[in-house]
Amino acid sequence: MIDRTLPRTSLSSGSIQHYSPVDFRPLPPVPIATPKEVAQALVNARAAQIEWESLPFKKRAQALKKAGKQMLVRRQEVLELLQDEVGKMPAEILLSEAVGPLQYIKDWTKVAGPVLKPRKLKLSPLAFPGKSGTIDALPRGVVGIITSWNYPLANFFKPVFAALLCGNAVLIKPSELSPRTADWFAAQLRPFLPAHTVQILQGGAETGEQMIRSGIDAVTFTGSYPSGKKVVALAAELMIPCSIELGGKDAAIVLADCDLDRTVAGVLHWALHNNGQACGDIERVFVEEAIADEFVSRLHRSMAGLRLNPSDPNQSDLGPCANTKQYETVRQHIEDAVSRGAKIVYGGKSLGRGLWIEPTLLDNCDPSMLVLQEPTFGPIIPIMRVKSGEAAVDFVNSCNYGLNASVWSADLTRAKTLARRLLVGTAFVNNHAFTGASPEAPWTGVKRTGYGIANSALSLQHYTRPRTLVLDRKKSPDAWWFPMNSTALKLGQSLAEAQLGNLRAALQLPFLISKREKQVRNYIQNPTTQNIRSLHSKLGSKLGPKPGQPQATSLSRPWFRLAGWTHFLLNRFKPSLSKRELLWARLAMEAAFAELPSSVPPKVPQLGAEQANKFLNDFYGNMPFSSAIAMRATFWFLGFSPIFKLGTFKTFGSATLEQRISIVQRMASSSNFLERQIALLVKMNGALHHATTTRFRDLEIIS
Ligand code: NAD
Repeated sequence: MIDRTLPRTSLSSGSIQHYSPVDFRPLPPVPIATPKEVAQALVNARAAQIEWESLPFKKRAQALKKAGKQMLVRRQEVLELLQDEVGKMPAEILLSEAVGPLQYIKDWTKVAGPVLKPRKLKLSPLAFPGKSGTIDALPRGVVGIITSWNYPLANFFKPVFAALLCGNAVLIKPSELSPRTADWFAAQLRPFLPAHTVQILQGGAETGEQMIRSGIDAVTFTGSYPSGKKVVALAAELMIPCSIELGGKDAAIVLADCDLDRTVAGVLHWALHNNGQACGDIERVFVEEAIADEFVSRLHRSMAGLRLNPSDPNQSDLGPCANTKQYETVRQHIEDAVSRGAKIVYGGKSLGRGLWIEPTLLDNCDPSMLVLQEPTFGPIIPIMRVKSGEAAVDFVNSCNYGLNASVWSADLTRAKTLARRLLVGTAFVNNHAFTGASPEAPWTGVKRTGYGIANSALSLQHYTRPRTLVLDRKKSPDAWWFPMNSTALKLGQSLAEAQLGNLRAALQLPFLISKREKQVRNYIQNPTTQNIRSLHSKLGSKLGPKPGQPQATSLSRPWFRLAGWTHFLLNRFKPSLSKRELLWARLAMEAAFAELPSSVPPKVPQLGAEQANKFLNDFYGNMPFSSAIAMRATFWFLGFSPIFKLGTFKTFGSATLEQRISIVQRMASSSNFLERQIALLVKMNGALHHATTTRFRDLEIIS
């Protein structure tokens, strides 16, 4: 319900035109940051951040403490500003805002110091031998901070001090309803920090969006659920971290055995504190029926004793609603509750010029009413009578918001049991919400209150990013590096088995690791030879063992190993391949290719003799001596095989392609082990050539 006679804050004509909620007096206009100024602010902040981050943590803390002291010394200025902008009472301003900055900075320093120290990266020496590292908490860079008007000064303490201590520069977009307090805050910090470390961007939602889009590295948002949703979506689009602290609908559960004096005083304070405009104010009271009459009557008496004095705010316990929107919400919630059967026990009326509403006690409320569902943010205490505290927990948890809740009882065990069941960020027994002023305690919520964490070491993850620096002092290569082979496979299996408690597998690990390291090194020193080995095993498995016979590759392994040992000694005496051997080898390659499945393009390799010879010479030259001998023997065997196999005097060279293919096929399926090995070598030759010329795609086909 919009009352057109009430003043509204305007953002037209390039400035914020605000008014005092105390008496509607217009306040000095504040210029709105232009898009160009927003962009420039980011550039300036980037430069400032480098200088600020380079200061040791202690120096940053000292600078902030000096600023905190200055704020305390000049507190009178802020009293006047807050009274003008949001209509707060002086004692309230002092107790909940103006006395806070220095102590907050000191407490933040204690919390942040240990978090910002580099930590050792703990790595298992078995899994990661020779490796060590550190994890540093580096500042994000430039953090954008958007705040609401309800604590025009104190709303900065959680995010701004934390971000600065971590080494960030900050851009602040304060509420358009408390712009001058933000300017004052930044002015107190400025003399002690590098220029542009803290900058204020005045304006409304549009300026907030421009700031988020300007290129900042993280955003912290404090405000309502509808705005928070948009900020989260924008931050997600820009892929920047976003911490959100949104509305609450805090509940108090009053059990029949509570200390009534303390409970009435506590509920009165935590419901009306800051005129009901704190996110952690009690907005729902569930009272066990057994004491409901007495509780309501005592709360009524206490409420009636509070002063509300629009003509002399200094003689008032409570202030006006801080702005027209808030005033209208409070009026709407009272009228909705009354229309649904709630009883006004006390208050409910608007007073004088300005946005004054009497503190209001509503009895007989139920969850159908707005006042028990949506944030009111005003001086209303709605009471709902319940059969038991246990039943109240279900009502508390059924709400869309979950910042804090409290249980009031003399039976601490029962109260704790109920408190543990509450779906909130902080559950209290016999008190409420005071931890919001402590950087030690996480301030967070569930559901529409948002997932952000303000305060505590946990919140600093938002203002820092981990940077891990890893050193490897190991001389040998790592066991899991290329090439993959049967030892790698065995290593993987043994690692899995060892974790399942297989002792034998565990004992094998050091040997397998050391073997793999050697294999990796050998591979790097002589990649071609190693490729041959792996292809050999691949092709061997493709041919498959004959029933009842050992797999072809298993016998070749010791053979290769022997070749490896003698390689260095004998390699230099290796005679080069003759022209005839080269010819037979080329023909063998061709035969092997013609035999590959038709899916392998090209079916027959288009390889010039010169190229093929070069390939074969390289291949041969890089082979261990014993393998080279085997290779030559293969070519000779092939060269004369038609004599034995076809019963003619033609050599392999003068046989047709079809004849050659049939020779290779017959040898591959022969019961003679030697023949199968020779066929294998032929296929390997062809495939290796193919792999070398068409690379990985065809390697996949071969495997
Ligand atoms: P609001 O959402 O209207 O505005 C909050 C801030 O966000 C203002 O600076 C506003 O200009 C800016 N803004 C609004 N829309 C934006 C957008 N789309 N993009 C960028 N910035 C945008 O809220 P309000 O009325 O100022 O604050 C009251 C709310 O804040 C209440 O719901 C209260 O519970 C909540 N609050 C929560 C906490 C907490 O710690 N959980 C603390 C204080 C206030």
